[in-house]
Amino acid sequence: MMINMNDAGSISELLNKAGKKELSDIIRYFCEKSTAAERLALSQFASEFRNKYYGTRVFFRGLIEFSSYCRNDCFYCGLRRSNLKAKRYRLSDTEIIECCTKGYNMGFRTFVLQSGEDTYFTDTRLCKIVFRIKELYPNCAVTLSIGERSYNSYKKLFDAGADRYLLRHETANEEHYMKLHPKGMSLGNRIRCLYNLKEIGFQVGTGFMVDSPYQTYETLAEDFIFLRELEPHMIGIGPFIPHKDTSLNDFYHPSSTNTLILLSLIRIMLPKTLLPATTALGTIDNSGQKKGLIAGANVIMPNLSPLKHRSDYLLYDNKLFTGWEAAECKPEIIRNIESIKLTPDFSRGDYVGLKEKNDCRLILKHLKSK
Ligand code: SAH
Ligand code: SF4
Repeated sequence: MMINMNDAGSISELLNKAGKKELSDIIRYFCEKSTAAERLALSQFASEFRNKYYGTRVFFRGLIEFSSYCRNDCFYCGLRRSNLKAKRYRLSDTEIIECCTKGYNMGFRTFVLQSGEDTYFTDTRLCKIVFRIKELYPNCAVTLSIGERSYNSYKKLFDAGADRYLLRHETANEEHYMKLHPKGMSLGNRIRCLYNLKEIGFQVGTGFMVDSPYQTYETLAEDFIFLRELEPHMIGIGPFIPHKDTSLNDFYHPSSTNTLILLSLIRIMLPKTLLPATTALGTIDNSGQKKGLIAGANVIMPNLSPLKHRSDYLLYDNKLFTGWEAAECKPEIIRNIESIKLTPDFSRGDYVGLKEKNDCRLILKHLKSK
């Protein structure tokens, strides 16, 4: 298969038209056979696309990991319920609001509330928290990343003011999904949740781990096809990093290379997407975030959680909570972003095509209230 590396447009066209076989060949080519010069060209094309829609801006999101309890048992994750060694904590409503206040004063205008699937946080509790944050900081976006819930639950959270939702699909291949998750969880439900979130009006983020156990170029091709169909507003990908107290602790690919390639390919395929340079990428590679931004990412999510709990939210081993990962290191992060000629941006950083949809929603609300 010939990949024309002469211009970004032809690669974009190829990625958008290709079927599963071609996509897996393209991904395999870049991961296994490409030269350093080709990978550099790929990241430059990706940056061109990012710059076309978002300029050189890098958006900041303040991450609040508010509970490490989880009812699920995903095989890869340190927070899975059968990991009896995991330290469990949950923040109170007041502590969550305090994190937002701290973040607001530091300039953050998006708060990402993430947790395990903690049944303590009922719709009523969560809606109260979301509503309070929006009341205090109406010009900020609230993103939730709290797993699978019912349509009604998502709707209530949206109506309480939540703007965005992150739910990685993890893999779009059914068999692969079953190898990573226990019986009782299903790809079908995950996908249903994502379409529900979209229908309700959330800006939706999905994504997957790179080099996860049993992943192949074919399953990655299916991930790409799924992303093309869903057209999410955000796509979170980062390397799989084993956790010592899970059964998947033997699978280790200590390299950021594949994540960087996939970040560029995704940026070229879906150029308007908001694409974070993730903590996992920074954990596996000292300059991971910087390289991620150079590869086409445009979001970073420093941690705003209380310092005393940061070492207890361990999805995987050696998770970073300093440098790029810590909101307290903001000046250092800003310097690093500027050193690669990008521009730190503290606005809400919504998806580029969103205005219209938001307006429609407001008009509908207005009409209904008449
Ligand atoms: N409970 C929520 C949010 C927290 S987990 C949910 O599952 O959606 C957030 C993400 O962490 C998961 O989607 C998964 O892709 C990632 N993750 C979990 N374990 C990981 C590991 N060992 N290595 C890398 N990423 C991991
Ligand atoms: Fe729980 Fe999310 Fe970890 Fe799965 S990935 S065990 S849902 S925290």
